[in-house]
This record gives sequence, structure tokens and C-alpha cells, in this order.
Amino acid sequence: MAKSTQARWNYPTTVRFGAGRVSELAEAAQSAGMRMPLFVTDPGLAKMPITANALKVLTDAGMKPGLFHDVQPNPVESNVYAGLEVLRKGKHDGVIAFGGGSALDAAKVIAFMAGQTRPMWDFEDVGDWWTRADPKGILPIVAVPTTAGTGSEVGRAGVITQEATTTKKVIFHPKMMPAIVIADPELTVGMPPFITAGTGMDALAHCLEAYCAPGYHPMADGIAIEGMRLVFENLPKVFANGRDIEARGHMMSAAAMGATAFQKGLGAIHSLSHPIGAIYHTHHGMTNAVFMPYVLAFNRPAVEVRLARAAAYIGIKGGFDGFMKAVMKLRKELKVPHALPGLIKNFSMDKKQKGHIADMAIVDPTAGGNPVKLTKKAALQMLDASIEGVV
Ligand code: NAD
Repeated sequence: MAKSTQARWNYPTTVRFGAGRVSELAEAAQSAGMRMPLFVTDPGLAKMPITANALKVLTDAGMKPGLFHDVQPNPVESNVYAGLEVLRKGKHDGVIAFGGGSALDAAKVIAFMAGQTRPMWDFEDVGDWWTRADPKGILPIVAVPTTAGTGSEVGRAGVITQEATTTKKVIFHPKMMPAIVIADPELTVGMPPFITAGTGMDALAHCLEAYCAPGYHPMADGIAIEGMRLVFENLPKVFANGRDIEARGHMMSAAAMGATAFQKGLGAIHSLSHPIGAIYHTHHGMTNAVFMPYVLAFNRPAVEVRLARAAAYIGIKGGFDGFMKAVMKLRKELKVPHALPGLIKNFSMDKKQKGHIADMAIVDPTAGGNPVKLTKKAALQMLDASIEGVV
């Protein structure tokens, strides 16, 4: 190691992990300083018993939570501003973020924006733009994930789509990290199989890309490699039997581990998946799952040795080739579409659109973490491979 090696490591927050712990929601919110929280979720979850139960935990404790559920999958800026209005009108003193990555991200950004005077896009994750924010204007957040994939509950950012440019952008501030996370695997039992598979593959993509990203971060590497093992062992179990609480718990851990590890960097899976998600409204994790083998094949020269080491740890024989086979087997088991046309309804993409997506991919904030430089030519090559289904 060079004497000059320097790095910055950040670790997550208090996580109350375990089945049934959503019963601690009121106490968690109170210990984060909330009396009148705004409960933020999405419209699907708003109708589900797990949400009614979580709200009851709050009201039984004498709290009077507000409710905002106008958050769409791959949330957009108008969702954030609508929530902000409800937050300010109701004079809420904190945010309970309840849901998958979409609701969590929107909720976190609403809490962040509570006391800011500048527009949201001024806080995009570019250089030190986060220092423009007034940290005193950020409300406390308690995060309760109901999917096991994004790990947004332990992250310091929210992914929001800019409607004017159809671009997914990252809003970042260190204080956007939830004060307390309640990671209760029972909440994930009702996920439909497609969402179980897609979110689980998102956790794998986070661990995999973080592990392959260049940079000195042995702690992230350690977390990523164990996160991958948990996914390979438990994702098929929860896909086959959604009520397997132990395996659901391991997936919830893997999701938080992926998001902890990806402070080291992500890569081309995400750089390609972000424009596809923003334009075609595909599920984020499922889109990552489609791109995974094409990106792995492209990055092979840079990651072959590292991934052989990971494979040996996970218990996969055959080095890089064995790892690739395990990814292909897992995708098949989870019914992940092999190529993009299987993911996007009435698929059509002309040369101009491909060029546009490649242009978006190479400027995506995740592009810099790819172990092989992500040029436009490279992005087009992987996009074509993922359309034709040729690994
Ligand atoms: P999601 O939040 O979009 O939810 C997908 C669907 O699943 C929704 O219809 C929701 O109602 C439903 N759902 C959620 N929990 C459920 C449950 N327990 N039972 C039944 N249905 C349930 O999906 P996601 O994959 O969790 O999040 C994707 C979003 O997260 C994308 O916008 C992506 O960009 C973002 N993301 C953020 C980060 C981060 O670090 N902040 C990381 C990765 C992805």
C-alpha cells in the first residue's frame, strides 16, 4: 500500500433489527425528538395493514402523525414539493419514512428540505454542493424499510427524478442519514415475488459494484463480500417462500450492507440502469439485475482476480466463470428477464435513443466507480449486448 493512501469511511446509524420491532416505532420517533411526525409512504403501502399497524403504534402512544402518501415509484421532484407543503402546513417536527426505496428517498429529501431556502437541485451530489444546506433546517428521520434492497434506510442520499430532463439525480447531505432505523423483516413478507426478486438483486448489485469499485476501503469490501454471500444463500429462499422470516432478515441485512458498502462507489450497472429507470419507469433493482452479466463480462479484465476471491469466500467454485454462472443461475431462478426487451413493454430503441441513454450513463454519478472507464463506446456496447441478450 502506498504511504500516501488516504480515505474517508462513513458508517451507518442505530439499527433496531428484528421481527416485530415495528412495535417500537413510537418510542424510536420520540427518542429522535419527534412529537408530531409526518409519516411518508407510497399509495400502495398506504392501503396495506402493515401501514395501519405502524400508524396505530404511533397513535396508541398519544402521537398525532400526519400522513403523506403521494410518492410514485422512482419518485419525482413534484412528490417532494407536495410532501414539503404538507410538512410545513402541519408544522411537523420530524419524518417517519416508511416503505421501499421510493418512499424512503422522498421522505428523507422532504425532511432535508424542511428548513432550506434554496431549491432542491442546488443540493445535488456534485462536489461540495451539500455544504450549501443549512444543517439546522433538517428534521430528524426514522426510517422503516418494507423492501430489502435499496438500503436507503442507512444512506445519506435520496434519488429523485428531475421531471424536466427525465434524469435521476442524487440529493446528498450527511445529516440526511436517519437517526434510527427499524429493520423488521416481518414488514417485507407481503412483497410480491417480482419486487422480492428485484429488490434482492438491487442489494446484490450494490455489494458487487462496491466490491469491484477502485479505491481503498477494506471495510466496505468486507461488508460487500458478506452481503453477496447473504444474497446468494437467501434470495432464492425468500423468492420460493416469502414467509421465511429468517431468510427475510438476512436479506434485510444484505440490503443495509450494500448501501453501507457503496459509499466506496458503484459502477456501470447503475449508470445504465438509472437512465432506463427514469425514461421507461422500470423497477430499479430488476433493471440492475438485467444489466448485471453484461457489465460483469465487460469489466472482466479488471475484476477477474477480485471476483475469484469473492467466489471462493462465498463458496462458489470456478473463479470468475463460476461467479458469472452463479449470477446467471440466480437470475433464472428469480425469473429476471434475460434481455431489456423482456423488461420493457413494447420495447423499441433507435440509434438516437441509444446514444441519448449512453450519454446519460457516462455522466451518471456512479460512472466514475466502474473499474473500467465508462466511455460512450463502452456504454453503447453494453447496452447493445443487453438488448440482444449476448453475454
Ligand atoms: P419501491 O419503493 O419503488 O417499491 C416498489 C413497489 O413495491 C411499490 O409499489 C410499493 O408499494 C411496493 N411495496 C413496497 N414494500 C412492500 C411490501 N412490504 N409489501 C407489498 N408491496 C410493497 O421499490 P424499491 O426497489 O424498494 O425502491 C426503488 C427506488 O429506490 C428507486 O427510485 C431507486 O432509484 C431508489 N434507490 C435509492 C437508493 C439510495 O441509496 N437512496 C439506492 C438504491 C435505489
